[in-house]
Parts: sequence; C-alpha cells; structure tokens
Amino acid sequence: MTDFHGKKVLVLGGSRGIGAAIVRRFANDGANVTFTYAGSKDAADALATTTGAEAVKSDASDRGQTIATVKAAGPIDVLVVNAGTLVLGDPLETDPDAVDRMIDINVRAPYHASVEAARLMPEGGRIVIIGSVNGDRMPFAGGAAYALTKSAVQGMARGLARDFGPRNITVNVIQPGPIDTDMNPADGPMKDTMHGFMALKRHGRPEEIAGLAAYLAGPEAGFITGAMHTIDGGMGA
Ligand code: NDP
Repeated sequence: MTDFHGKKVLVLGGSRGIGAAIVRRFANDGANVTFTYAGSKDAADALATTTGAEAVKSDASDRGQTIATVKAAGPIDVLVVNAGTLVLGDPLETDPDAVDRMIDINVRAPYHASVEAARLMPEGGRIVIIGSVNGDRMPFAGGAAYALTKSAVQGMARGLARDFGPRNITVNVIQPGPIDTDMNPADGPMKDTMHGFMALKRHGRPEEIAGLAAYLAGPEAGFITGAMHTIDGGMGA
C-alpha cells in the first residue's frame, strides 16, 4: 500500500478491467479518485458506490470531451490514462474507421489529456499511460494498427517527460502483457497462443497492473520518467 491521502487522482477509462482495478487501488490507498467511462454506466455506478470514487461520463474518442473532462477535474496530482480499445484483424479487411477510432482513443486522447492535466498539475505530479507490450513486440499477425497505437505512446511519454521534467512531473508508460479482462479473457481463444510466448504461462491480473501504477505514482518513483515499464509475464523476454 502507498499512502495517497490528500492526493487527487483522475483515471481515464476506469469502469472495467485494468482501469477499475486502478480506481480501486488508489481509492483503497486513500486518494480522492475521479474516473471516466463511456459505455459501461452500470459498472461505473457500481464501482463509484463501492469505492467512493466519482464517475464521469466522457468519451475518449472525442477530443473536446477529453480536454473538458480533464479541465473540469481541476489540479490533479496523478493522471492515469487507461482507456483503450483493441482492433485486431487482417489489415486488408479491417474497417479504416475502426482503426482511426482506435487511434483517437489510444493515442490522441492520452496526448491531449496529458497536456491538459499538466497545465494545472502541481510540482511533483505523475502521468501514467497504459500502453502494451505490443508497443515493443507484435508476435502474431493482425495487430499492426494496435501496435502502432502502443508504440506511439512511447514516443509521447519520452517527449512529455522532457517537457514537464523541469516541474518534477514524471511521465511513464506501463506495458502490460496479457491481462484477464473483457478485452482479453484468460479463457479466450487466443490464450494458448499468448501463453506460448510467455515465460509465465498465465494471464496477469488487473490488480498486478494497478500495483505498478501505484508505485509509479508514489513517492519512491520520483526519479523514474520517460520510461516504459513492461509487466508481461516474460512475453517480451
Ligand atoms: P477492457 O476492454 O476490459 O476495459 C476498457 C476500459 O476502457 C473500460 O473501462 C472502458 O470504458 C474504457 N474505454 C474504452 N473506450 C473508451 C472511450 N472511448 N472513452 C472512455 N473510456 C473508454 O480493457 P482492459 O482493461 O483490458 O484494457 C485497459 C488498457 O490496457 C487499454 O489501454 C489496453 O489497450 C491496455 N492493455 C490491455 C491488455 C490486456 O491483455 N487486457 C494488454 C496490454 C494493454 P466503458 O466500458 O465505459 O466504455
């Protein structure tokens, strides 16, 4: 546990999966947490009730909504950008609008949210982006567009780390491997393929990602910035 009492945390995309675990972790550790959702109102309401966090409807594919939501949150100590979608498939057959929407959510939203958050973020603030091990490696076909989005946030974090470093604001990317969520269920059809690439033959748990997010947002991680933190059961080893 890290003590986040007195800290304001905004999690973009917190209604389900990894984002919900991050909301629970920061709330349990004493933070004042706000999180966004787009489609999962029931899940968001339930999470708000059990954690005391505030749920805000905001679609990460809409730049105006994203910027307005961050601005409305006021000065935040920690921004976690988790909202993401996964479009897999033969690039020759994939709907280009679906690819562009994924780029809006996975790339443009983290950039604009981070910049907006930094306007009011106090000295020593933390920005954590949820990327993917696929930013480094794409070990199967059909993932080019998704990998593109997760590589893009690497460059973004490196650059913003330089921009905000003088204010002691850190910018880091967490790169999960397979994690058991709706996006990638541990009993899904790809499980054997994915486990075949891994040193640890299992999906990770959302709570394991939340633990790393809390570490990067906590006082022990103040010297870590512009860095990619892979947590993938050895998928990239
Ligand atoms: P889930 O599909 O289980 O959950 C996605 C979350 O993102 C939901 O809370 C969803 O909210 C939110 N979200 C999606 N689109 C939007 C949007 N347009 N606006 C606001 N919120 C949105 O995914 P995971 O928890 O598995 O993934 C979370 C992050 O982790 C993503 O960035 C993903 O790419 C990354 N990741 C996941 C891995 C995995 O194996 N699970 C591996 C590597 C990276 P709502 O339902 O309310 O729309």
